[in-house]
Amino acid sequence: MLDIKIEITKNPKVLPGADNPLKFGTIFTDHMFLMNYETGKGWYDPRVIPYQPLNLEPSAMVFHYGQEMFEGLKAYKTGDGRTLLFRPDKNIERANKTNRRICIPEIPEEDFLQAIKAVVKTDEAWVPTKEGTSLYIRPFIIATDPFLGVKPSERYLFIIILSPVGAYYPEGLNPVKIWIEDEYVRAVKGGIGEAKTGANYVASLKSQVKAHDEGYSQVLWLDGVHRKYIEEVGAMNIFFKINGTVITPELNGSILPGVTRDSVLVLCREWGLPTEERKISIDEVYEAAQNGTLEEVWGSGTAAVISPVGQLRWEDNIMQVQDGGIGPISQRLYDTITGIQLGNIEDTHGWIVEVN
Ligand SMILES: *Cc1c(COP(=O)(O)O)cnc(C)c1O
Repeated sequence: MLDIKIEITKNPKVLPGADNPLKFGTIFTDHMFLMNYETGKGWYDPRVIPYQPLNLEPSAMVFHYGQEMFEGLKAYKTGDGRTLLFRPDKNIERANKTNRRICIPEIPEEDFLQAIKAVVKTDEAWVPTKEGTSLYIRPFIIATDPFLGVKPSERYLFIIILSPVGAYYPEGLNPVKIWIEDEYVRAVKGGIGEAKTGANYVASLKSQVKAHDEGYSQVLWLDGVHRKYIEEVGAMNIFFKINGTVITPELNGSILPGVTRDSVLVLCREWGLPTEERKISIDEVYEAAQNGTLEEVWGSGTAAVISPVGQLRWEDNIMQVQDGGIGPISQRLYDTITGIQLGNIEDTHGWIVEVN
């Protein structure tokens, strides 16, 4: 058990009004969680304090060598006023997996959960209630040693910030258009693709800008060796329904193991849909689109939950999916997962953790 000190702000902000669209990632709550680490001392000084700028040395290692990790999960408000987390244990387990990969000290799982609950509880009034909204939780760790030179840092800061959010894509559940990248790559096996770290995102920016310029909202990555096998979308895992079978790329070391991906697989199996986790090439997807068996494509991730894909562009080929509309499985997955998250559908999997 952490002994978390709580300092309440003397200048609370005005809560966003009911008509505020809560543009993703733009509004932050009144408080944040902080905890320090130092070699020999371990994690220490857990505290909830008013949200404020950090005070760091310009030589802090995170600025120079990118030793940083993050997580993303959400808290939801139920109709009867409870605050629920969705599968936080999976995020925490993944966080420590990321930590191990990039030489950041692990955080005991129960301490991590306690920290999330403490800060969410402090800012519980910020959990929005309107349909489609939630409180996005962003835990992250940065290397803070004031040192130039490449090695794991001796000091870290673990931080949790909170942001009330509406839909991730302005389109909401409307289908997105996706650009299949064949020039740049995001990650390779043996690299850090399966770790949730900012470094993967910086590698993706150039391609994202290119896709946006062409009118596409997201990039779909191919594998870094053959430029042939599907990997994932920028911040989502990807699913194809071809001729009745739900197919998603296997976790091969360069793909981020999404919590939503796992939930989608569990539900599809329960619904009796054939599912396959395997290599799937862009040629296979293209052929399915040509012969009419590409029934649905959707992305999965905490931010958007389920994001139907209406169009894929690969080189000069444009593939329409579901005539650009929302497929029935995408819709059912979205309704079921958000229903469980909001406490409207019975949680038969032990996925829900109440903040109390
Ligand atoms: C976070 C993330 C996902 C989605 O994972 P969830 O746990 O479902 O939110 C997918 N891909 C990348 C690169 C990510 O960073």
